[in-house]
Amino acid sequence: MISISYDGQLCRVVGTAASGWLQLRNRNGERIVAHQSDFQNVVARDYASSLTDGCSRWPTAVQVSPEQELRRTASHEAGHAVVSAYLEVPFDYIEMGDDGTGIVQPSCTADEGESLRELAAKQLIAAYAGMESQQTFHPAQPLWQIRDCAQDDRRKIRDIAAEFGFTTTELSRAREQAVVLVQQLRNAIEATASALLEKRKLTCADVRAIVASV
Ligand SMILES: [Zn+2]
Repeated sequence: MISISYDGQLCRVVGTAASGWLQLRNRNGERIVAHQSDFQNVVARDYASSLTDGCSRWPTAVQVSPEQELRRTASHEAGHAVVSAYLEVPFDYIEMGDDGTGIVQPSCTADEGESLRELAAKQLIAAYAGMESQQTFHPAQPLWQIRDCAQDDRRKIRDIAAEFGFTTTELSRAREQAVVLVQQLRNAIEATASALLEKRKLTCADVRAIVASV
């Protein structure tokens, strides 16, 4: 029987699935699925039921250092923040915890004269920008992991689309604009990510100053 340490607990490897996925069972009998390229880092319990056994590959774990995890988070949050600042979508601050979690705290104030739908359209672009930025600065990270980090963003995009009636075409366009802006604002995003790594919290004014200075 093979056991590995996963997420701080000893788990039994009960099977492997296609594309390097491992099925694990922890001491409580809970089924967990993790990827062999990065099994220390992934919590993807939901996928368990959709996988089938059959592949005989075993873990060759590449552990992601906490520092690397922080750099990924910093790029992701910096992408949201810089695109927000550029599009003048108000936010209060961005913050990153030592555990690699990050947030962009939305602001309650909107510019006068702008319709809520116009603001929502920009929020969509800013929401897509986190994932795009992470992918741009960490191209070696598997896409499924990057998508995992963006679950909240996808929920936010769905909510905005439902509330304001954005079509699939409009969503695709917002995503394309995020791709373009992340490339265009690449230097500002990189500078913001470095500042965030150092200070852990930046205000909207800090980010706007960085965008204006690079
Ligand atoms: Zn995000």
